[in-house]
Amino acid sequence: MRTEQLTKGDMKVIDDFIRPLIKDTLYLDESAANEYLYGSSKSGLLGIPKLAEEVDVMMVGNAFKLLTSKDQRIQELAWGDLLLHARKRTGLDPSPSLIESFLNGVQDEEGFRHTSCPYSSTWSHPRSATSRLGIKWRCRELFDIELHIDDKVLTQNDRTKICRTIKESLRACWTQELIAKPSQGVEIEVSSLHRASSHFLQSGNYTKFADWRFIHNARLNLLRLNGNTPWDKSLSQCRRCPAPVESTLHVLSLCKPNMGRRTLRHNAIVDRIHNAKRRDWQVLTMNQSLGDERLRPDLVITKGKNEAIILDITIPYENRIQAFETARAEKKRKYTNIATLLSKDYKNVSVEAIIVGALGSWDPANDLVLRRFTNKRYIPKLRKLCVSDAITHTRQIFQKNVMGYIPPESRLRARAANITNIPSDNLPDYDDSTHV
Ligand SMILES: [Zn+2]
Repeated sequence: MRTEQLTKGDMKVIDDFIRPLIKDTLYLDESAANEYLYGSSKSGLLGIPKLAEEVDVMMVGNAFKLLTSKDQRIQELAWGDLLLHARKRTGLDPSPSLIESFLNGVQDEEGFRHTSCPYSSTWSHPRSATSRLGIKWRCRELFDIELHIDDKVLTQNDRTKICRTIKESLRACWTQELIAKPSQGVEIEVSSLHRASSHFLQSGNYTKFADWRFIHNARLNLLRLNGNTPWDKSLSQCRRCPAPVESTLHVLSLCKPNMGRRTLRHNAIVDRIHNAKRRDWQVLTMNQSLGDERLRPDLVITKGKNEAIILDITIPYENRIQAFETARAEKKRKYTNIATLLSKDYKNVSVEAIIVGALGSWDPANDLVLRRFTNKRYIPKLRKLCVSDAITHTRQIFQKNVMGYIPPESRLRARAANITNIPSDNLPDYDDSTHV
């Protein structure tokens, strides 16, 4: 790429060839947004390099490195060549502002407007790449060049960071484009808040194959549900209840026949939080009714007579960030009276919520709560376990809703044993459902 052995067009051919293979690996529907593949891994997307873009990045990075080379001779040669080509292109004496316009690929300023360059040079591709990438060169004086990428300014001292910074900026753009999508970006806006929400992408830790096949389509709102076919309104009713639209939100969080499975999902997270508390905290009540309103917070934990925390765990569907904000505010409001009641016996009483999305999004605000009563070193693992638990249970809710049953793991293990002739007891405990 740095030496232009292959053109941007060649790279596009490779990109187009690879993209469907990646989607197959993720069990993604064809209609899945490509932004999911190219978005930033820091935001829980795949972070796959798009080669046609990488070529542009390398071109600009290479030009910057030549112009800021630590080897004085190379730097002088590069600037000499740049000034020569700028003069040939415009017919004007190169000034800092002319060099800036030349590198930025300007076409409508004096000197550029009525001229064209009949041949290609070292600077032709960086010029066109600069305008495609939406970055800006800045030249205060000759032999002093800067690159402006979003709100970052990169100088000679940052020459080794150029390509990385441009790539991060491009991936952030892909992420924002996906979030802006009215259907596929709804959940991604929430799961991109914390890296733990997508911890399984690189490692696969705590994640069954069946979960892997489910979660990518689920996060992009591409589950095969009656309500997810807006082009066919004739059959959008829920197949388990009279609700008119069987949407992802309805199936995972509202449908009454799925209530039992949702309780299992909720209790799995409560158990994780309960088991993670430090020994100096005691459980006062667990799912017991308190006060005149007979409300049942999931956990009330205390530390001597000083502190009491009323904890409630909630698993809302990730319907944009507001879903999490509303859920937290609602929990705090709901248990205010119980907090007043407990404040007679304890010095500091607080109401806190732990929020994990139905599709495994981790609310960053949980961390502050957990730091109060769990071991800080355990929090990273706890996050991953909660995320994976939520995904597993949500996948089972979906399977139950669509098929009426959850494919039993024992049958699948037996099938695997027949293929490999290994006694089924020795096989790992995978729920390898092909039905998803
Ligand atoms: Zn329903």
